[in-house]
Amino acid sequence: MISCKSTEEFSGFSYDPPDVTNTIDKEISPQPRRTIGVGSPKVWVSNEFDGARLNDFYALNDSTFEILIAPENAPINNSPWYGFKIWSDSVRMAKIQLNYQDATHRYVPKLQSWVWPDSMWQEQFELPVEYDTASGTATFDVLLAEDPIIISAQPLNTTPLFKKELSSRGVIGKKFTKFREAGLSKKGRTVWEVEITEVKKEQKAPVLAILSRQHPPEVTGYLASLIFLEELTSDTDLAREFRETFIVKAFPMINPDGVDLGHWRHNAGGIDLNRDWENFNQPETRIVRDAFSWIKDHELRRMFYAIDFHSTNENIFYPINEEIQTNPDNITQKWIKEIMGDNPDIKFTVEEFDTSSPIAKNWFYHTFGIDALTYEVDDRIGEQQLDIVSRSAARSLMRLLLDEWDKIALEN
Ligand SMILES: [Zn+2]
Repeated sequence: MISCKSTEEFSGFSYDPPDVTNTIDKEISPQPRRTIGVGSPKVWVSNEFDGARLNDFYALNDSTFEILIAPENAPINNSPWYGFKIWSDSVRMAKIQLNYQDATHRYVPKLQSWVWPDSMWQEQFELPVEYDTASGTATFDVLLAEDPIIISAQPLNTTPLFKKELSSRGVIGKKFTKFREAGLSKKGRTVWEVEITEVKKEQKAPVLAILSRQHPPEVTGYLASLIFLEELTSDTDLAREFRETFIVKAFPMINPDGVDLGHWRHNAGGIDLNRDWENFNQPETRIVRDAFSWIKDHELRRMFYAIDFHSTNENIFYPINEEIQTNPDNITQKWIKEIMGDNPDIKFTVEEFDTSSPIAKNWFYHTFGIDALTYEVDDRIGEQQLDIVSRSAARSLMRLLLDEWDKIALEN
């Protein structure tokens, strides 16, 4: 499907639903926010919180309960996000069956409970499931009591937590970090831009773009982008030199509506944002485009490299084909070698693509002639491994980009 060379001919990747490149608003079915109780004594569920997704709830018998999960609209990629609170009037075990409309089971359920005295939901553990390949459903056992627990497809990194998370990681609150409202999503949520730099106004400087969370369930890629920002703002000689040379412009939460509404993939316009980088029919992609496009004509600024973070079922890098000439050239190929060398025990896959699809990476290439990367993190990567890989990758990137900029300075 990727064989076509021109943008006009691209109609979707193998896993995309039909008509994915038509990014004019499509209808979505909003999930009713409610609390439902069934059985006796009652078992309760609720989707009345940010990031929730639960469309219906039934008792199949005394011990088994079915939860219906439906997407925001269909057809849609198989990334069935869910999130709900569940509790019972009496302490009991329950068998929960996740039944997906338009999808089959994908994400291992994560159980979170309210932790005192921190007053926040914290991830506790994964719940093992029994997967029925014929029906695509997944079943698990859980202990219920009067205090609600949250069960979700991935940790709930919703927009109300975004600023807190950046503060606790030390990204914002520093003199060289600007946290600004770049614009408003379709439903009026803020799309935030994080700018990190110690470059002087009159200094000629290259720009690094960091994007993430175009797709709501892709939490591991989002967390990787935050760890990158943490490294870029850290108090090391490398990070300081990088900030004195480069300007980092980051959009870690591009689809805030999708995240808070518990969407599987789309924004509130029912569109896959990472297929809208040619027509720009959606406000979120326009906001990010406009934050970068002025650089093209600016005397002192030069777009240099762009990373778009995502998640999938493996650690995989999607570079631009090595034969395609970019300026600077083959940053990604050099960087991936470093990442693999620094993390020899971790499996990474590399799959190069042409630049025909209307995705963020290709917009950066077509607009600025630069190299760019779609950086995909395994959905099931452990916290520790995510931290180690992301930190080492951020450091090797800083070293590499500083070298490349030095080379350009020498040539001029
Ligand atoms: Zn994605």
